[in-house]
This record gives sequence, C-alpha cells and structure tokens, in this order.
Amino acid sequence: MFAPVLIGLVPAALATVVVKRQDTQNAASFAKIVDPKKECKWYSEPTLSKIMDKQFPSTEGIASIVDGDEDAKKIWQEIQDSGIIPGHVKVKDGSSNNYSVDSSALHDYNTKSDPDCWWTASKCTTPKTNADKIGSDLERCEEPSTWGLTFDDGPHCAHNEFYNFLQEHKLRASMFFIGSNVVSYPLQAQRALVDGHDLCVHSWSHHSMTTLSNEQVFAELYYTAKAIKVVTGATPQCWRPPFGDTDDRVRAIAAGLGMRNVLWDKDTDDWKMDEGTGQSEIESNYRKIISRANSTSPIVLAHEVSTHTMNMFMTMYPEIEKAFQHIVPVTACVNATKPGPEDITYPNFAQYVSGDIGAKGQPDGENIKVNADAKYQPTPLAQQTQKGSFMNPNVDATSSSANSTSSGSSDSASSGNSTSTDANSSNDKSSETDSTVKSAAMRVSVSLMALFIPLFVAML
Ligand SMILES: [Zn+2]
Repeated sequence: MFAPVLIGLVPAALATVVVKRQDTQNAASFAKIVDPKKECKWYSEPTLSKIMDKQFPSTEGIASIVDGDEDAKKIWQEIQDSGIIPGHVKVKDGSSNNYSVDSSALHDYNTKSDPDCWWTASKCTTPKTNADKIGSDLERCEEPSTWGLTFDDGPHCAHNEFYNFLQEHKLRASMFFIGSNVVSYPLQAQRALVDGHDLCVHSWSHHSMTTLSNEQVFAELYYTAKAIKVVTGATPQCWRPPFGDTDDRVRAIAAGLGMRNVLWDKDTDDWKMDEGTGQSEIESNYRKIISRANSTSPIVLAHEVSTHTMNMFMTMYPEIEKAFQHIVPVTACVNATKPGPEDITYPNFAQYVSGDIGAKGQPDGENIKVNADAKYQPTPLAQQTQKGSFMNPNVDATSSSANSTSSGSSDSASSGNSTSTDANSSNDKSSETDSTVKSAAMRVSVSLMALFIPLFVAML
C-alpha cells in the first residue's frame, strides 16, 4: 500500500542518484508518456541540477533559509519589519518531527475563545488579527451548485493519464504543489501550467505549519513558490496548508508573501486509500458531496498524491458532472483572473462556465523552460491592488454573485464552519484533522523506507 506514496517521495531520497532520461526533451514530449513506470523513472533537469544546492533547501526535510540566499533574507526581513506577524500566537507543539500537531497542544488550547483563529482546533477561517489586511480563508464558491476543483500534493510523477483526462473533459483545476516535488518532477510541474491549471503552494515538505518557527514557515512557502517560478515561470498567489493546519501567525507570513489561504468545505478523504481504506468508502465520501449539489458550492479537497486518488476522481467524475451545474478551478470560483504578476490570465466565472476555460499567456509545452535566473518576487500584501489577484479579484458585472468573495468580508455571511446548516461540513473537516496523526506516521515510515532506496538503485 505504500507503493504509490513512495513514488511521490522517492526523489527526496534520490537527490544525488541521477539516472538521466534520454527520451524526454521537454514538457510536450514528456506529456505523451502514459506508462507510469516510464513517467516515474528518475531524471535530471540540467539547469535545475546546477542551482539546486545553492538556491533551494534540501528536499529531505523542513525548509530553512539557504546559507547565502540574500534575496530570501531581504524579503523575510521586510515581512518581519512590516509588523504583520502577530507576536501573541505561539508555535504549537508538534509530534513526529512536526509532521503533525501534538494532541497535547490541542488539549491545552482554549478552543472556545480561540485567540489564534487556529483552524485545526476550531475550524476558524476569518483571522482575528489583521483580518482587514489578510482576508478570510477561501472555502467555497458563491455561485450555486458549483464544485471548486482542487488537487493537493502534486506534481505526482505518473500524472499524465490524469491530466489527459482533465484535458479531455475540459476541466481546469487549482493544483497545490509540494515544493520538493516540483524540483523533483519539473517536467510534470510544467505540464500543469501549460495545460492551463492554476498553480498554488502547498509547502515544501508537508509538515504541520503551526508547529514550525516563523522562519521555517517563511522558508516552506518561499522556496515552494520560488521553485514554481523557476520551473514554470509563474508566481503563485494562493496556498493551502497541509492538513489545513493554519493560524493567524501562519496566515500572516503567507500574506506577507502575497498568498491567499485556500481551504476547503468538503473533503473526499481520498488519500486514505493509500493507507488501506477501501475504494467503496471513498466513493461514498464523494457521493455524500455529490448528493448536496443543489444546496452547496464547496471547494473540494482531493489529491494528486497517488494513482489511487487520481483514478478515484476519474471514476467519480461522471456523477459529479451530472449533479453539479459547474466544476471550476478556484481562479474562476473567486474571479482571480490575473493571480500573478506575469501576463498569464485565467477566465472569470462567467467566462469559464460559458466554455471559455483556457488560460492565456502561459508558455506551451515546447517552449516552457527551467530558468535559473528567474527571480521570485512576491507581491507584498500592501501592493496587491491589482485587480484579478486573489486579494482583489476582478468583479465581473455579468457574474452577479461573484463579488461576494472578493473582499473576504462575505465569508462570515456564508460561514458554514460556524453557523452551518450543512451537517456534513464540520464532519468533513474533522476527519481531515483526525487524519493528521495517521498521515504523519505514514510519512515517517515512508521516509525511513526511502532511506534504503538509494542503496537499492545504486545497485541497479
Ligand atoms: Zn497535502
């Protein structure tokens, strides 16, 4: 049952064991490979290999600012000097090397007053500090009967069949990428942008963010965004915390990097298949969401973490499509038409649902290249006045209710987390939190197993 997960984590252990792939020149040719074994065969991207040690942290652990990285240090200093990081929010106790929040931290926390707006403890999504600057976490789309399409933990090495499926069914999604996966699978990451998906950050090493120091949180987000910029050319302005674990300290650091926090309203729990949960149980989770198509418009949590989870979405898609009027990426969901500083634009909700689903301005698969000189320059929060950003979505007059998420202020009005009549909502979120401990244990086990793999590969 570890095999699919191992595929995703092996590169971290193989950073120095390079088997050069001869048959892949660029993202376009790579996209034609649909044999998972060939897709996951380790390869070296020469430009990236040259800069990895100097410009990125190790792929094997929690990120920290790389020695001598003056650009990162300068931006980190600016965020600290801005005063946006609240001093009263403490670092939470972690377990298993901070893969997860320790249960004692939850026990000791005052969930009722919830001073930190700590999602893991309370499902709080509207910051209690700097709410006017940061905005609420995004959880749902405002248009009726809309499925917000998101996938976490990519890029997975063997995702071509899945991405082909998304293309064939005219689907675009918001992809929450793990930084160490992006540098391990650059051609796969490039395909996501080429195909018109929106690229968001999901941390560098997939630890519980509230258990990390300020500087570690910064580095986890900074280097993942930088990896996406160097590998694809796009600057992400959206992110999702692993396990949903965020609080006002973590939100503030992300906002300092110009990233809007995107959570979810419904959880498929699809990743549990990789721990042995049967397919029928996950289908049932999907069907619970599908059954509420007429009353909810959730951003839905699903994963690109394994062939199991990708196959599950493809299996369930016909039922989703039948029940929901619209299936859209978060960009369309909130009308974030120009989420980054580059000239890459995405359709707003009205355009997307009328069939104009394509992004514009992104490179194609023949031309997209890793750029060692690409500068990742996050847009400071105070300067995010550009319409169409996640902080200031472009409100389209033809999309009548789309403006309600634009300021973040409406989130309380639609706050299913606190006043929900949607009984499934809180259950979904709880299950994700409960998953933290098990998931952490799994990842530690996998990491230990992965340590032995270089030896095995070296013998081949
Ligand atoms: Zn994840």
